[in-house]
Amino acid sequence: MRKLAYNPYFDVEKDPKFYCPICKRLAPKAFQEEHHLVPKSKKGKETVTVCVNCGDMIHKIFTNQELKLEYNSVKKILSHPDTKKWIEWISKKPADFSVCMKRLKKR
Ligand SMILES: [Zn+2]
Repeated sequence: MRKLAYNPYFDVEKDPKFYCPICKRLAPKAFQEEHHLVPKSKKGKETVTVCVNCGDMIHKIFTNQELKLEYNSVKKILSHPDTKKWIEWISKKPADFSVCMKRLKKR
């Protein structure tokens, strides 16, 4: 994991614009992560780039077993009522808001 020596939001201009497929919010490079559609521990290989907030959220809502058996696509993840609640909540937060700010600072 690369270190963050800068506030990622100052680099939004330099980063290619990326919108998280889950919450549809702009996520600079430092706020993106690869989500395994089928968890790595379940031998999944295919990944999708999401923002770190959604990356965390997915693993709070779903167990690895659920991700493997049912919620193994962005479309299915989006269909879950808890995902909808999460998107509604995060969409009201300012653009630079991240629930993972603390986690990033620790790296
Ligand atoms: Zn997101």
